[in-house]
Amino acid sequence: MSTMNRRQFLQTSAGAMAISALGVPSFAAAKKASGGRVVVVGGGAGGTIAAKYIRKADPSIEVTLIEKNADYYTCFMSNEVLGGDRSLDSIKFNYQGLAAHGINVVQEMATAIDPAAKTVTTASGQSFSYDKLVVSPGVSLIYDGVEGYSKAASERLPHAWKAGAQTQLLRQQLVDMKDGGVVIIAPPANPFRCPPGPYERASQIAHYLKNNKPKSKILILDAKEKFSKQGLFVQAWEKLYGYGTENSLIEWLPPSAQGEVKRVDVTAMTVYAGEFEDKHTADVINIIPPQKAGKIAIDSGLTDDSGWCPVDKKTFESSLHPDVHVIGDACIATSMPKSGYSANSQGKVCAAAIVAALQGKEMVVPSYVNTCYSIVGEDYGISVADVYRLQEDKIAAVEGAGGLTPSDASPEDLRREVAYAYSWYNNITTDMFS
Ligand SMILES: Cc1cc2nc3c(=O)[nH]c(=O)nc-3n(C[C@H](O)[C@H](O)[C@H](O)COP(=O)(O)OP(=O)(O)OC[C@H]3O[C@@H](n4cnc5c(N)ncnc54)[C@H](O)[C@@H]3O)c2cc1C
Repeated sequence: MSTMNRRQFLQTSAGAMAISALGVPSFAAAKKASGGRVVVVGGGAGGTIAAKYIRKADPSIEVTLIEKNADYYTCFMSNEVLGGDRSLDSIKFNYQGLAAHGINVVQEMATAIDPAAKTVTTASGQSFSYDKLVVSPGVSLIYDGVEGYSKAASERLPHAWKAGAQTQLLRQQLVDMKDGGVVIIAPPANPFRCPPGPYERASQIAHYLKNNKPKSKILILDAKEKFSKQGLFVQAWEKLYGYGTENSLIEWLPPSAQGEVKRVDVTAMTVYAGEFEDKHTADVINIIPPQKAGKIAIDSGLTDDSGWCPVDKKTFESSLHPDVHVIGDACIATSMPKSGYSANSQGKVCAAAIVAALQGKEMVVPSYVNTCYSIVGEDYGISVADVYRLQEDKIAAVEGAGGLTPSDASPEDLRREVAYAYSWYNNITTDMFS
């Protein structure tokens, strides 16, 4: 070990091991690579990870990340901003850390993809050529999926389903609301970004109201009969917010109880729900519209009739356009939910597939992971975790490898889930932006 001291050797081998664990060819092999050009559209939970891990696996590959915003506000933990326990600034990140990996970060809106010419065009007219393209644009909101709702209406009735100004607006409305006010939350039908998100949101708002405006009430008018982690949420609401009693802070109405929103009247701050269009007037209304893949994916012909992007589950290469990979919320990933952690896992698998392809190597059979934490009140967290593997052309959960917070978890376990959630948040944001 003449040219390398022990510490350098350990760092190098640890790096090689970590990369191999992702299924990417080892560092030694990467050094011989002929390079290539990768463009990534969207610097969120999926795109940041694909860009960074391609560079880490093979520094000879040129990576350009095109992201329209200078800052990224994580949707994860944005419900805590609504609950008042966290500032908006604490969920804000920039792209300097990624630039330090040698990624060419371009702050622009990607306006067109030409899969034949293999180029991406941006709003200013720049054109970027690629050998491989990764598209991770998240979701677009179908505003007119709820009659009477629109982008303009979201300035009065915020969706807060993309974090940032909308989160701040909804938070301010809660702060300004009188004690005794009514908050309506209207979650969409499946599939949508973050299945437990609306119910964590209801919990966080209830946490705020309990401590500040206890005469108030939250009404969830749902487009679904069932929702993610329902048993655990209901149990928490019973313990913390009087759910099921006359004084409950939260009431949940599924379609069978006339809960499905039919239309909204923005001026009258009124929602009409159920078969008979029952009228509900509120002080704060949070409409979470139905969703489909981000606009650039739709405009580029990457979506099918479902509005989402079909992909090869082993590589996340589009089933519709070769050399274009779609990850994150926009793609159809069988049983993986549309979550930040799913996007992270898919970003790593996609990075491995692209590096292997550019190096002329075989892609390994990947596995995938997801965990979703929800903080439902003070010292009270719950979670669901799954490990997935490729089964024929589907991503299937590995039986016995996941699980839910047990329904008889002790107060200490529930408190720990909150600590795990914060730790998960620090890890995923460090992974994305450092
Ligand atoms: C309230 C809430 C709570 C959540 N909590 C959790 C949680 O606890 N855990 C969890 O795992 N997930 C959570 N999620 C889900 C998570 O935020 C998403 O699943 C995740 O962000 C998806 O990653 P993505 O890369 O697909 O999209 P995003 O992270 O949304 O990234 C897309 C990026 O692409 C950019 N973009 C889009 N189009 C263009 C274009 N044409 N040109 C340039 N840039 C473009 C956008 O600006 C954005 O930065 C939550 C979501 C919500 C709404």
